[in-house]
Amino acid sequence: MCSSNEGKDNTVTIDISEELVKYLPCPLGGKHNMRGNGSGDIREKKGKVLLKGHCFRCDKCGMIMIGQYSPFQGSNKVGRYHTGSGPVANYTVIIVAKGTKLPVNNRLNEDNFFKGIVWTA
Ligand SMILES: [Zn+2]
Repeated sequence: MCSSNEGKDNTVTIDISEELVKYLPCPLGGKHNMRGNGSGDIREKKGKVLLKGHCFRCDKCGMIMIGQYSPFQGSNKVGRYHTGSGPVANYTVIIVAKGTKLPVNNRLNEDNFFKGIVWTA
């Protein structure tokens, strides 16, 4: 089990500021099976908070997404978002490179990446 999931304040930070982010279909086949996973934010490395939002995680491959809006609260879009992978907690922080421009999802099923996601309550 991931020991970094056991922080006292139940927050985990994932630093992907030096990774190339790819928006891919679920590597385990079929669609990403996204479930709600508490809250989270996206921060620039040594910079500002870009977004405070909802955290989702694929229960197959572990892909994490932090998004502005939650399909589990009836939203038909995610808004500004970013993905990552790693452990999660009740509060998950994704660190991105300074100057990162967050992609925006205006409608679920808007593109192939989002078509490859099932939102499983
Ligand atoms: Zn997946």
